[in-house]
Amino acid sequence: MAIEQAQVTGIPFSFELYPPRSPLAGTLWDTIRRLADTSPEFMSVTYGANGSSRQSSLRVLRHLKEETGVHPLAHLTCVGSSHHEANRLVREFLDAGITSFLALRGDPPEGAAEGDDFLGDLGSASELVQLIHRVQTERAQYATITSRGGGGGGRIPDRREKVRVAVAAFPNGHPRSSGSQQDVDTLMAKEVSGATMAITQLFFHAEDYLGYVERARAGGVTIPILPGLMPATTPGRLERILQLTGERRPDELSRQLHSTDSADQQLEYGVEHATTLAGQVLADGAPSLHLYTFNQHQAVLSVLERVGLVSTTSGTTTTIKEKL
Ligand code: FAD
Repeated sequence: MAIEQAQVTGIPFSFELYPPRSPLAGTLWDTIRRLADTSPEFMSVTYGANGSSRQSSLRVLRHLKEETGVHPLAHLTCVGSSHHEANRLVREFLDAGITSFLALRGDPPEGAAEGDDFLGDLGSASELVQLIHRVQTERAQYATITSRGGGGGGRIPDRREKVRVAVAAFPNGHPRSSGSQQDVDTLMAKEVSGATMAITQLFFHAEDYLGYVERARAGGVTIPILPGLMPATTPGRLERILQLTGERRPDELSRQLHSTDSADQQLEYGVEHATTLAGQVLADGAPSLHLYTFNQHQAVLSVLERVGLVSTTSGTTTTIKEKL
């Protein structure tokens, strides 16, 4: 699908990173720098996935905040925490200056038995959304009291001041969901709990995202729903993702990736597929693009360039500013 560049310039985009297992993260900092050059709306950092700890997440989040100026968004999960621990965790991230979160229920640790036992005191993402707002409100009130005590006058803080809490959404249904209505109801419950936007699980067919957004709007959801896109640039990664997410196989892309051993050709197929998908969801009203990077910049920047959101000059990729 051809999209007019003037139609898409100025549309925000964002990236997801995961904390490296090794503290020697030289290539990650380079990737972050290249991604940051494009002025994304935010970069999110996963939590708990791939065995990452809160310290490794915080390290990447601090780097984003202090070294790049990009707005960091921290994933947080409910896994294994008591109320007290979850409270302390949220406080620790707020203390580090993090004000945007993606509140998740989280998945069981690898090898854990089925059931909810792995969760701890918080049973769902909605409860974590509420907790984040509660902790922030308490902090803001405490800051006001301190400021009053210090003779500074103080002011009554807005209950939701400064924190932005995103949640996950599943266009093709969460594996535990009983049906598409439950997925919409769950998202609605998250919005009622204070979520300010949703980011979707990756998908490979535009109609999956567009149909989900339509059902969510019909069900009363009003928060922005950002499409999560991942350029699948190797057959191995595509298979692994399909296995992990249970998403519908993109048949044509799958056939193309398996048809060649050339890494360049596979990259081209993956980028082209993601570019078409991005163009389709933007043309039908997606508010922005959220790109899963797998800590690599090349594929996602190529997608953004082909969609018309960034341009490359002298090896540096920057945002194309609104031309309308
Ligand atoms: P919830 O919204 O709480 O629930 C998920 C679904 O389960 C609901 O839609 C509902 O249908 C069903 N459900 C929940 N409770 C019940 C119940 N009691 N009975 C019946 N059905 C129920 N995981 C990580 O560990 N770290 C990450 O950084 C991370 N990042 C992610 C980023 C995105 C954008 C997405 C989409 C997922 C991410 N995940 C991450 C994975 C996520 O934690 C899992 O998909 C998890 O299983 C669901 O999380 P949730 O926040 O949607 O949970």
